[in-house]
Amino acid sequence: MKALVKTQRAPGLSLLDVPIPEIGINDVLVRVHTAGICGTDLHIHQWDAWAQRSITPELVIGHEFVGEIVAVGSNVNDFSPGDIVSGEGHVVCGRCRNCMAGRRHLCAHTEGIGVNRPGAFAEYVAVPMANIWVHAPGISRDVAAVFDPFGNAVHTALAFPVLGEDVLITGAGPIGLMAAAVVRHAGARHVVVTDVNPHRLELAEHMGVTRAVDVRTTALADVQRDLDMAEGFDVGLEMSGNPAALTDMVTNMAHGGKIAVLGIPTERVEIDLTTVIFNMLTVRGIYGREMYETWYAMTVMLQSGLDISPVITHRFAADDFENAFATAADGKSGKVLLDWTAVG
Ligand code: NAD
Ligand code: ZN
Repeated sequence: MKALVKTQRAPGLSLLDVPIPEIGINDVLVRVHTAGICGTDLHIHQWDAWAQRSITPELVIGHEFVGEIVAVGSNVNDFSPGDIVSGEGHVVCGRCRNCMAGRRHLCAHTEGIGVNRPGAFAEYVAVPMANIWVHAPGISRDVAAVFDPFGNAVHTALAFPVLGEDVLITGAGPIGLMAAAVVRHAGARHVVVTDVNPHRLELAEHMGVTRAVDVRTTALADVQRDLDMAEGFDVGLEMSGNPAALTDMVTNMAHGGKIAVLGIPTERVEIDLTTVIFNMLTVRGIYGREMYETWYAMTVMLQSGLDISPVITHRFAADDFENAFATAADGKSGKVLLDWTAVG
């Protein structure tokens, strides 16, 4: 089969012929149809400091995908060839305290598909049956391909109640954009999204936000005044990874405000703990998705009218992966998809 492989400890990726993965008795084999490019994949392509620490070549990369089951292990009863599925990208140990208690998203021993084990930028991927999500009929294939990052958005956006609340989202990348649509769907009053990239702010306008704010030119205090907000934001979703965005968020929250932090900073971040204490803020880190409550929530929100499709802005054939990666990296895109159905 064809697969996108990190072959050496250096920038770049290669589209190579590799063996179709073998499946164990508890695994399923998925013929990948469409895959999404994530920031993680860009890091691996560029071979930055994180990738150098985390990735051992040779590795087939990629973890956001939709495809069709073509074979199942002898122990697999619940899934069959023909099922249209995505995979939860975190493979958990199943034996630690959190796993045993059903809190699998809190497993301390996760392995990442396409990070620590062979990934989904390939014609076929082998996935443990415990990681399979069968899509409901009617879910668009393109949206199904991005259930993994959509799940990051939903996990963060629903970390705290947003009905009637004023929500600040810092970072209008694909995940921030999806989160904006989710909190809107979940009944937030004002949804203010910030970025420093005009293309991303324009995409935010299409997600039905109250205000898309360029923080280089507009202060959040002025936005609050414009919107007649008296107390500050009730809920903050940090989705940029930028230290200044989190600092700014902390100072713009209402007393008792709640902050969920998804964005991964590349450097140490200082926050003003005095403000956290005196304003009684809650700050919660978010990693991955809840297995599988987040996946359920994604499905039923789509079935009840949530539309995240404007976030998907580009589609490329897998052979054209260099252009796809360049597009995903240049900041003028939302989510970029790779089509694996006709590769080669
Ligand atoms: P992205 O890099 O495409 O989007 C980040 C956005 O933040 C960009 O549009 C950028 O212009 C914007 N930004 C930069 N500085 C800013 C500032 N000062 N104020 C406001 N916005 C600013 O990333 P993404 O794919 O949308 O993911 C969002 C974040 O979540 C990233 O940091 C990513 O690493 C992280 N992430 C975390 C998890 C997890 O499980 N915790 C999973 C996936 C992604
Ligand atoms: Zn575990």
